[in-house]
Amino acid sequence: MPKHKRGLLIVLSGPSGVGKSTIVKRLRKINPRLKMSVSCTTRPPRLGEANKRDYFFISKEAFTEKVKNGEFLEWAEVHGRYYGTPREFIEENLKKNNVVLLEVDVQGAGTIKDWLYKARLRKSAVFVFIIPPSVDMLAFRLKRRKTESSELLNYRLRAAIAELQVMEKYDYIVVNDQVEHAARKIQAIINVEKERVLLN
Ligand code: ADP
Ligand code: 5GP
Repeated sequence: MPKHKRGLLIVLSGPSGVGKSTIVKRLRKINPRLKMSVSCTTRPPRLGEANKRDYFFISKEAFTEKVKNGEFLEWAEVHGRYYGTPREFIEENLKKNNVVLLEVDVQGAGTIKDWLYKARLRKSAVFVFIIPPSVDMLAFRLKRRKTESSELLNYRLRAAIAELQVMEKYDYIVVNDQVEHAARKIQAIINVEKERVLLN
């Protein structure tokens, strides 16, 4: 029998405000066995965000210490703040054949791809990019969320348009028209990728 059961890493990216967190929340209800990687960040929590659930909110000093100790699989500066993916959680869960989902910006996705190639695990991962139905809709959703100052909002929107240029590097592109549709599409991707033969 082919040895095709292995963990699966789902790397999710997409511009700020596209709906990643909302989709992931829905996806976790559809698939409670999904393991979520919780990143460390130096940005302050938003209203409704909880430490250890949404992010590990840590100081810049604590972040730098973790970088020095090699605790991150990847880390990047995004919109002037630091974000990093804890290494141990991902490695442990892949060993246990779990499906692990992580959300990173496009730089982080590139770093993870390099790591996967080196670890000969590229086929155990799938890169999914979430796009808005239109750039106008993205601007509307980001404004309506009311979590950024107008200066930061414009900055995030400009970054979003730049990020959209790299979406072809991903394995799948999912349009967030409706949260339910997008979450179900990602679950369909997980279902089919779990069956992929890894040995050819
Ligand atoms: P991200 O995590 O990508 O930054 P969020 O999940 O915070 O984005 O979503 C940004 C805003 O858009 C939130 O206010 C969210 O409720 C809203 N939103 C997300 N998906 C949809 C959708 N399909 N239709 C309408 N509003 C949405
Ligand atoms: P936000 O501040 O809106 O939660 O996230 C801003 C950006 O940082 C998003 O594009 C998100 O995907 C990205 N991000 C979140 N966690 C990480 C991480 O651990 N590493 C990297 N490289 N990006 C991250």
